[in-house]
Amino acid sequence: MTNVSLTEIKKSYGAVPLFENLNLEIASGEFVVFVGPSGSGKSTLLRMIAGLESVTDGVIEIDGEDVTYEEPSDRGIAMVFQNYALYPHMDVYGNIAFNLRLAKISKDEIHTRVMEAARILRLEDLLKRSPAQLSGGQRQRVAIGRAIVRKPKVFLFDEPLSNLDAALRTQMRLEIETLHREIGATMIYVTHDQTEAMTLADRIVALDYGEIQQVGTPDELYNTPSNTFVAGFIGSPKANFLKGLVQSATENTAIVHVDGAASGAIEVKAENLKPGDHVQLGVRPEEFNLSLGALDESLVLMGHVETADRLGNITYAYVNAGLADLITVQTFQNRKIKAGEEVTLSVAQNRIDVFNPDGIRCSPAKT
Ligand code: ADP
Ligand code: MG
Repeated sequence: MTNVSLTEIKKSYGAVPLFENLNLEIASGEFVVFVGPSGSGKSTLLRMIAGLESVTDGVIEIDGEDVTYEEPSDRGIAMVFQNYALYPHMDVYGNIAFNLRLAKISKDEIHTRVMEAARILRLEDLLKRSPAQLSGGQRQRVAIGRAIVRKPKVFLFDEPLSNLDAALRTQMRLEIETLHREIGATMIYVTHDQTEAMTLADRIVALDYGEIQQVGTPDELYNTPSNTFVAGFIGSPKANFLKGLVQSATENTAIVHVDGAASGAIEVKAENLKPGDHVQLGVRPEEFNLSLGALDESLVLMGHVETADRLGNITYAYVNAGLADLITVQTFQNRKIKAGEEVTLSVAQNRIDVFNPDGIRCSPAKT
C-alpha cells in the first residue's frame, strides 16, 4: 500500500527553481533514505512532506489523503531533527510527554505511551534526568521518543545523527534500524552520508540539485548506478572513472580506447555508442586485480603505488598509472603492498560500468 505519494511536485525559492517535476511513491512500512550532497534539496523535500515548507505546485498524499495544504499537525507525521530541540527545563519524561499533554490526551494514556517509548529506546532509567545530564546519543533517543509517542503514520528524520561522533553514529544507526523493525512504521530519512543510506535504506532516493537521479535498493544503486553522479556518490572509497574514446561500435558493443591503458582498446558491452564518443568507464576499487596475471580480454593498466592505506582487514592502494587521478584499488592485507612498488592492474570487461557522453549508464548490469 502506498503511504506517501508525491506527484508532479514543483518548488521554487523566489525565482530560483529547485524541484521542477518530482514524482515519488513510498510504500507503507518502507524505510526510504533521501541522499545527496549538501544543497541538493533533501531537507526541502522532507519539509514539504511535513508541511513545514509550502509546495509551489503538485500534490502530496499521505495514507491516501491529499495533505498538500494541511497543517503539519494534521498530517500524521512526526519529525526528528539534527539538533534535538529538547526543552532544557523539563526532564526526559516531560520532554517525551510534551506534545501528548498539548493534545489533551489522558494522563494514563500518556504514561502508557511514554513508558513504551522509553522501553523501546532504553530510556527507562533516565526519565528523571534533564537534557543537560544526557549524552548526545541519549538526547537524540529522547527526540525520537517524542516522535514515537505520537504514533505517526510517517517518521521523518533530517540528518538526525550528524551531531554525533563516529562510534555513536554507528550505534544510533543500529538503534534506528531496530526501531524500524520493531514498530514497522514508514520512515523517511535524510542524510548526506552514503554509508547511512546504504546501511539503513530499503530504498534509496539519490538527489542532485532538485532532481532524482535514481531510486532503488542499496544494491541496485551500488551495482547498477544509472549515471556518473550515482556511481561517484554511492560507495566509499569512490569508484574510479577512466576516460575512453569509442573507436567502433555495434548496437550493443563498443571498442573503446582507454586513456593510459597498457591493453590498448578493449571491447565492452554498451548500447547506442558511436565512433568518436567520449565515454567514462567506472571501476570500483574492489574490481581491480592487483599484480595478477592479466587476462587477454581485460583492461590492463600499469603503474606504481603512491600510497597504501592499511585498514587491517583490507588495504587500499592508490596507484599512479600516469592519469590525472590516482586509481584506488582495494586489496587484501596479506598482499604486502608498499609505496613505490610497480603493479599491474586488470579488470574484466563485465565488471566495468560504461557511461555515455551525457554521463548516463549505457552498459548492461554487471555479471
Ligand atoms: P539539503 O538539505 O540537501 O542540503 P536544502 O533542501 O536545504 O538542501 O536546500 C536546497 C537548495 O534550496 C539550496 O540551494 C538552498 O540554498 C535552497 N534553499 C533552501 N531553503 C531556502 C530558503 N528558505 N530560501 C531560499 N533558498 C533556499
Ligand atoms: Mg538539509
